[in-house]
Amino acid sequence: MRFETLAIHGGHGPDPAYGAVMQPIYQVSTFAFRGVQEPGPYDYTRSGNPTRAALEKCLAALEGGDHGFVFATGMAAETAVLALFEAGDHLIVHNDLYGGTYRLLTSVVQKQGIDVNFVNLRDLDALRAAIRPETRLIWTETPTNPLMNLQDLPAVAAIAHEHNVLTLCDNTFLTPYFQRPLDLGIDIVLHSTTKYINGHSDVVGGAVIVRDAELAERLKFLQNALGVAQSPMDCFLVLRGVKTLPLRMEAHHRNALIVAEWLEGQSKVDRVLHPGLKSHPQYELAQRQMTGCGGTFSFRVRGGQDAVFRLLGAVRLFILAESLGGVESLIEHPWTMTHASMPDDAKTEAGITPDLVRISVGLEHPEDLIADLQQAFQKV
Ligand SMILES: *Cc1c(COP(=O)(O)O)cnc(C)c1O
Repeated sequence: MRFETLAIHGGHGPDPAYGAVMQPIYQVSTFAFRGVQEPGPYDYTRSGNPTRAALEKCLAALEGGDHGFVFATGMAAETAVLALFEAGDHLIVHNDLYGGTYRLLTSVVQKQGIDVNFVNLRDLDALRAAIRPETRLIWTETPTNPLMNLQDLPAVAAIAHEHNVLTLCDNTFLTPYFQRPLDLGIDIVLHSTTKYINGHSDVVGGAVIVRDAELAERLKFLQNALGVAQSPMDCFLVLRGVKTLPLRMEAHHRNALIVAEWLEGQSKVDRVLHPGLKSHPQYELAQRQMTGCGGTFSFRVRGGQDAVFRLLGAVRLFILAESLGGVESLIEHPWTMTHASMPDDAKTEAGITPDLVRISVGLEHPEDLIADLQQAFQKV
């Protein structure tokens, strides 16, 4: 079945109990045994729940995977994946990525004796040089949050597999609608479903999708052992959100490109970082590996942080808030907001400087969004 059909029917049909067309919310903690020593298909919601199973099957189908797992947040999904590794293992992580991932790796994972190296994975020679006998995982995020840099997934996967190293792609920004990492040779796909997959700014959630059965067994064990799974109500909301993912992603992509092209013509804008623009240094890779760009991108404002603060203070329709991927347009300042947990020198080295603004273009009419930015730039 095609993507649009799987988004609606993947993982569940009418409920066998009463024929409910939408997956019901099994809002229970525990399930009755059928008899002594005879559990039913579910026993306890931390280990499994029918509403959760429906969402997990749907997301696995959309990514072209065989096994899906959903978690309380994107960070909970990362926690489960990182629990696959132990002291002495070595991980290679792209050096420009979501601030919360950086914080988890540096303030928790490294302290457990796991060695984490941040490497610019656009440089494949640097990747090759960083691999050691203890290397277990290469972590990509493409496009990166917030700089919209890309990593060449088939090239990274080929190098990893030569060395028997697992690969992960955080696919939050594009969703499987615009990029399918498993098809490009990646082993583990990770999402913050809080963003585009749910898409309505009313849930936090995470997901992990794999093809390998043994890896799936270990993740299932960790999801239960760590107690990081998503609640039935939240699974229901994400399942509802995902049904319109194809329509929403098309509209986010269209609106964001219109706004990005307009911004490129503004004298107070220094650079627009959007992989769908010909000015993006990796435009060609974007055309090869992604089928669209979604709604999130960044731009640099002339005049530094003071100018940025005047812009952020003047918008009326754009909402000043962290997060992205919802129907409403958001604007934020990575240096002091989403990426505040990264030390200033690490931010600067990656290119996250005080003049950078990130926007998440929603589903409003793009002319209203441009009108808002236009009036706000007059106050910059
Ligand atoms: C938001 C985000 C996360 C973390 O997800 P939460 O749902 O906020 O815990 C991870 N990766 C990326 C790329 C994100 O944007």
